[in-house]
Amino acid sequence: MKKPKPQTEIDALNDAAWELRNSNALKAISMAEEVLVKTKLINYKKGIADSLHTISYCQATRTAKYEEARANGHAALEIYIASNDEVSKQKVLNTFGLIEGISGNMLGAINYFNKSLKLANKLKLSHQRAMALHNLAVSFEGINDYNRSLDYNLQALKIYEELQNDNDVFKTLQNIGVIYFNLEKYDESLESLLKTVEIFKNDADKDTQGLAFLNIGRSYHKLKNYQQALDSLNKSLALLEGTGNRLVSSDALAEISIVYMDMQRFLDAKEHISKSIKIKKELNDSSGLASSYYYLGKLLFQQGEKAKALTTFTKALNLAETAQAKTQLQNINKELASSYQQIKDYEKAFQYLSAYLELRDELFEKASYERTQALLIHHSITQEDKDKEIMRRNKELKLANENLKLLTLELDKQAKEDSLTKLYNRRYFDSLLEKEFSRSKRYHKPMAVMICDIDNFKQVNDNFSHQVGDQVLIKIAEIFMKNIRRNDTIARFGGEEFVALFPESDVNKAFEICERLRNSVEKYPWSKISSGLKVTISIGICDDTSLANGETMISKADSALYEVKENGKNHSRIWDNKEMLIA
Ligand code: GH3
Ligand code: MG
Ligand code: MG
Repeated sequence: MKKPKPQTEIDALNDAAWELRNSNALKAISMAEEVLVKTKLINYKKGIADSLHTISYCQATRTAKYEEARANGHAALEIYIASNDEVSKQKVLNTFGLIEGISGNMLGAINYFNKSLKLANKLKLSHQRAMALHNLAVSFEGINDYNRSLDYNLQALKIYEELQNDNDVFKTLQNIGVIYFNLEKYDESLESLLKTVEIFKNDADKDTQGLAFLNIGRSYHKLKNYQQALDSLNKSLALLEGTGNRLVSSDALAEISIVYMDMQRFLDAKEHISKSIKIKKELNDSSGLASSYYYLGKLLFQQGEKAKALTTFTKALNLAETAQAKTQLQNINKELASSYQQIKDYEKAFQYLSAYLELRDELFEKASYERTQALLIHHSITQEDKDKEIMRRNKELKLANENLKLLTLELDKQAKEDSLTKLYNRRYFDSLLEKEFSRSKRYHKPMAVMICDIDNFKQVNDNFSHQVGDQVLIKIAEIFMKNIRRNDTIARFGGEEFVALFPESDVNKAFEICERLRNSVEKYPWSKISSGLKVTISIGICDDTSLANGETMISKADSALYEVKENGKNHSRIWDNKEMLIA
């Protein structure tokens, strides 16, 4: 049966509007709206549905009106279902997927693309099948499930190759290259990306070529093929600068800088990263700028400009926070933690590491949840499989948490520890001392402190060596650890000085322990370390808890130590209030 003329005309107008949906969405909407009025007048249902579908598509992709897009799409779907028009239904399902995907609901998107794929399979619509596969690949990429994304991309590629659609093959190969990159399979990534160059030679537009060479450069870089990386990246830069694509060209500059950094060509690295920073600042690209500052910080740190590096990292951190770029925040926090660890500021290192771990857990949990949900939607799997997946996820999470605990313990230990002797460090001792001091005051319990200094240690260094000096420090720490009680705390106070805290001990007990320490040091067979070596120590003790604070007790113990040093060394002496006043 031949269609009446007005319907053919409306179909033609709707087709024209649909064709314009990507290149000129606004025009497509206004055309579709006009057709909608006409087709309603003659109550031509398919015409109404087609117009509504075009409007829905453009509302989502161009004007971000997701609610209206959903409503119009559903109105169209109802008509298609009523008329059993499965070909059109398949297309609307795809549009629903796009609406959800663009509005950030990846799981909803996957759900619809799955339905549209099934229908395309049933109807044997090759191009629609490839498109659904492509959309699924993009959605899974969006939730960082690169393996599944790769799988869908490869299926789409096969169909596009059969259809000999160069443009789609090119795009899919690009995607595959990027996914392999994210999966850290750089050889495969490069292979896929190089094929894209083959396909187009110089036919593709300069932007597309520029992006392709940027990705190729990145893969060469990861494969440590620095010269090829630089060649590709410079090609990319020239192409992108040619088209005025400053956003992507500043990425190319940053990438070139990182390559130079790995080649130890620091001046070139600095020059390129500075250029990239300049452009990103002009473009107000917070997240890009954060990334460039991150690399500049690394560069500065490597060159020993540590203070500058740390301020640069902090700038990067603030920018990433502004942009809410979580993965970047994670990387920057990690870098700050490791930098502070290297300059031995363990407290700061601990602070940044905690922030890093917290973010990592947050991202991990989110990704893991989304992956599980996506899997559920995808396979409509059974409860048993679902439980298995959840168990697997919990196991992963538990492992991550255990790692976190270990790391936290390790850094916490480092924050308290002296690296040479493994005794507590001064900072930790100081805080413990004041706590113990208040406790002893509150409960009227005795406590004593001592400070100890190695006698003539300068001569040990001079006559033997600094290494021997270090060994002596380590050995003395060991001797101390062996000879104190479980509740006593010994710490390295700095240089060749040690301090100890004896809780609930009166001065006689403290003196007894100190003499034990001193004797053990004197008796130790030091010639084992170096022949002719002899080591003794001098000790000052204080147990006067009527003093202002723990720190003052240490300084009084130090006065007693000074007396010992003045009177022949290698003794222990208790600080005596009255005697000291007389002296
Ligand atoms: P005195 O008996 O009066 O304490 O004499 P001294 O030589 O021990 O005192 P002085 O304060 O003049 O010298 C302390 C030396 O300790 C100087 C410094 O080089 C050395 N020293 C400080 N820390 C370390 C270290 O970690 N390793 C080594 N090997 N030597 C250190
Ligand atoms: Mg000293
Ligand atoms: Mg000394």
